[in-house]
Amino acid sequence: MDDDDLLEFIDAPSAAETSAGATMPEAWRIVVVDDDPDVHESTSYGLRGLEVEGRGLQLLHAYSAAQALQMLRDETGVAVVLLDVVMETEDAGLATVGAIRDGLGLANLRIILRTGQPGQAPEIETIRRYDINDYKTKSELTRTKLYTALTTAIRSYDQLCRLDASRKGLEQIVAASNQFIADAGVQTFAQGVITQIAGLIGIEAEGLVCASTGVGEGSAQYVVIAAAGHLAYLMRRRISEIDDPHIVASLTQCLAERRNLVTERSITLFFEGRESGDFAAFVYSAQPLRAVDMHLMQVFCTNIALCAANVELVARLRDYAFVDRMLGLPNRTALIEHMDRAIADGSAQGCALGLMDVDQFAETNDMFGHVYGDLLLAAITRRLRGLHAGDAFLARVGGDTFALFGAEARVQPEVLRAVFEQPFEIEDIQRPVSICIGLVHCDAAGGSGLELLKNASIALKRAKELGQGRSAYYSAEIGIATRERTRLLHGLQRAFDHERLFVVYQPQMSLRTGLPIGFEALLRWRTEDGQFVPPDRFIPVAEQSGLIVAIGAWVLRTALHAHGQLRAAGIQGIRMAVNVSSVQFAQPQFLATVDEALADTGMPPDCLELEITESVAVMGMERVASVLRAIKERGIAVAIDDFGTGFSSLSYLDQLPADRLKIDRAFVSSLDSGRLGARIAEMIVPLGHQLGMQVLAEGVETEVQASILRSLGCDEGQGYLYAKAMVIEDLLPWLAQRLGIKP
Ligand code: C2E
Ligand code: CA
Ligand code: CA
Repeated sequence: MDDDDLLEFIDAPSAAETSAGATMPEAWRIVVVDDDPDVHESTSYGLRGLEVEGRGLQLLHAYSAAQALQMLRDETGVAVVLLDVVMETEDAGLATVGAIRDGLGLANLRIILRTGQPGQAPEIETIRRYDINDYKTKSELTRTKLYTALTTAIRSYDQLCRLDASRKGLEQIVAASNQFIADAGVQTFAQGVITQIAGLIGIEAEGLVCASTGVGEGSAQYVVIAAAGHLAYLMRRRISEIDDPHIVASLTQCLAERRNLVTERSITLFFEGRESGDFAAFVYSAQPLRAVDMHLMQVFCTNIALCAANVELVARLRDYAFVDRMLGLPNRTALIEHMDRAIADGSAQGCALGLMDVDQFAETNDMFGHVYGDLLLAAITRRLRGLHAGDAFLARVGGDTFALFGAEARVQPEVLRAVFEQPFEIEDIQRPVSICIGLVHCDAAGGSGLELLKNASIALKRAKELGQGRSAYYSAEIGIATRERTRLLHGLQRAFDHERLFVVYQPQMSLRTGLPIGFEALLRWRTEDGQFVPPDRFIPVAEQSGLIVAIGAWVLRTALHAHGQLRAAGIQGIRMAVNVSSVQFAQPQFLATVDEALADTGMPPDCLELEITESVAVMGMERVASVLRAIKERGIAVAIDDFGTGFSSLSYLDQLPADRLKIDRAFVSSLDSGRLGARIAEMIVPLGHQLGMQVLAEGVETEVQASILRSLGCDEGQGYLYAKAMVIEDLLPWLAQRLGIKP
């Protein structure tokens, strides 16, 4: 028999067969297997013109088991097989079932067994094993009953196919999860969830996903993190802020009962989160939803929840969901959001943002451990919570930085500082805590939450510069200065990377002999357009950012290398001074850096002098003294730079084992004009001598200054009177000439 003859259409050709339009849905394909032609005929007749789920029925006819199997091998999308139990042999029908399930692997296909007599019913076990859907005697199968059985079978087939599709969908989600990590984050993931649900139940993507913020009770803590279609406008709202009562009710019930909900028009799925907290998805359907397999949805939800864990949703949700886990406070993102909203609705007027940074927190952590640090932060949080009554918004924006946004009267240095007046009790020990506060007023000008936070951070930085326990308000000037510094720092970093920094050398002279005895290495930065940026401007920036550590190490090596060039040219016994910032000095690896540079350049240590300032004292005199001793043990000399400025404390000068005291040029320049400068210089020279140090005067510009210094007993001088700083190529002949060495 020709295969084509097996095909018989119940009605007009179905959409699949008409080339013209795909408007008609494809008919369900049903294979009728029976060796009796009459059965085929009556089946065709009985099902004529019927539809299931809006789709017609297309019958395919097979007259033997072998033919049926061949047909199933060739045809796709067969929904149901109506199979005669007894054909050629007693068990031909059942053997066919086995071949369909195990041999062809058609698991979704539904099978309805038909038999002549009741006694031929297969064992229950067989029915179960082969997933046989229905068993009917032929006499039972009246037109109506056949239709009912078929409808059930087709629906079931359809659901199984959807399940398959959703499995594929899940696979896609899992496969896509790597991508989620790479680029997208929560937003895309949640969007993907909506799309998947919509695809799963065959509707338009019209829904939202909400996730826990961890702040608040019950559904109050949930925020919409993705929204599609007409619901897009609900993005970022809390459940209580959603203006659709059906959505609110569905989400609330779903989250409270921790289960999926299906109504005619919507489906609400519950996803059990792990660390990230639970989340829920709501999807609307324009048409009434067909029966949804709840088991399938359960599987889907579990998979998505797992997937959520895979895509590092944990971390992202935490971030996105606006909460700081440790202290249970809103985080930086939440604060920005809150301020954005306040700015948008005008309630930010008359408000201020204050940032509070715990002084010496890092040190506390280092000294007492993280557990202690955490306890301290928790204690601070408790007190601040007590303060943030009313509308003020409290957040944690950094490790030890808290933010309070609210009415100006509430957010004020005095009010905030009062919270820290009493010491905190941690592990039964009273601990005083001080804070620096940076504040910014929300002016009517608008701006954004992020900008407010940035400006408050700038003010905080300023406050920290002023010292512990200080506060500062943001002002345009501070803002400009800070942005300028940031630009400068970036420029410096680039210059350093592109070798636009270089070192020049300024001679130091003996005031007695008039001969050069040494020189000081000074850093220079020439920008791309040939401008010089003075060190007084960029060194502080380099120090604040820590860049000075790398730059300082580079200066040291460069200078030592230059000194090698002088030695190679026969210039011996000349000392070289290199400036060392207190930031460098405080580095544990500072000495190692020096040792390495000495070893690499073959520099005799006793030709090297390190210039430090009194500001090294901030690291504690004991440590300073021990590092200085280590330096001296190596034969390296130490000079105290800029003496007389800053917070000079004579009390610990005698604890600093230094070789040289450098009188700051501020005192030198006033030697021949003002009397105060003269008196200080007069005082410093004998003081240095008493402590066993040489005294060097900086910034000597005139002969008069030089002779006064000489008369005061000052040993050495450095300044424009003798020479400006010069590059090594110029220094070499300059020194050679004065020392009477032939280059
Ligand atoms: P400083 O260590 O006190 O360096 C002496 C400064 O006085 C130098 O300024 C030098 O050019 C200047 N000077 C020398 N003689 C005269 C004079 O007769 N009259 C006047 N008016 N000025 C004179 P410079 O090179 O601009 O350096 C400024 C400061 O930058 C230095 O002060 C030092 O604190 C810092 N600095 C420079 N290079 C380095 C470096 O490599 N590392 C570190 N940490 N700091 C550096
Ligand atoms: Ca210096
Ligand atoms: Ca100096």
